[in-house]
Amino acid sequence: MLELISVKKNYPSPLEGQEVCVLKDITLKVSTGRSVAIVGPSGSGKSTLLNIIGALDKPSSGRVLLDDADISRLDERQLAKIRNEKIGFVFQLHHLLPQCTVLENVLIPTLAGSKPASRKAFEERADSLLERVGLKDWSYHRPGELSGGQRQRVAVVRALINSPGLLLADEPTGSLDRESSEKIAELLVDLNRSEKVTLILVTHSGELANRMSEVLELDNGLLTERKSR
Ligand code: ADP
Ligand code: MG
Repeated sequence: MLELISVKKNYPSPLEGQEVCVLKDITLKVSTGRSVAIVGPSGSGKSTLLNIIGALDKPSSGRVLLDDADISRLDERQLAKIRNEKIGFVFQLHHLLPQCTVLENVLIPTLAGSKPASRKAFEERADSLLERVGLKDWSYHRPGELSGGQRQRVAVVRALINSPGLLLADEPTGSLDRESSEKIAELLVDLNRSEKVTLILVTHSGELANRMSEVLELDNGLLTERKSR
């Protein structure tokens, strides 16, 4: 369902006229329902790669196929539609809107959707997902009243509200304590199975990485299977 073919990414370097090659030649196939961890040193291009997979950024060359559409060639409008309908994102920081309730935050991605599904259906899905992550009672609270771990669980629910086929998470436990990290890890593994959502995450946590079905290492612009487990 997801395929990267010879993806390269260069950034202009601060030195006049030069370029930094962050991704050199990335070829990757991820079948539906798999779970993949991407690990690697800081600055190795993990976020760059995840953003390219999630159509938030374009490769300098190469192709990115999502369900057979080449997302490296689509225009901004088409990309926005794909991002909204097919991809869920979780970042290191939850990016919840402080002035909105938990439930409102979860429903935000449904506002931009082109699907004519009713508001009621989305609210029911929000309710059942919030219940699933143990936050049903917090629906009408604001993010400021929640702990960091609870907020991140809301961010995971928000990422799944449109039933995407692909869930991307960039260091989802990076700012959480041990116990909350463990809960988020459990949740991601569980949702990967029950929602049949393909999961690709970037992490520094060996524990979280080991729970994925595959662990890939990004180093020096190249992606390889992790050498040691
Ligand atoms: P990681 O997530 O593995 O820490 P990143 O993907 O954030 O790495 O960054 C990889 C490299 O690309 C870094 O050297 C970073 O400075 C550079 N980089 C990332 N985004 C940009 C950008 N928009 N413009 C220029 N350089 C960038
Ligand atoms: Mg990063």
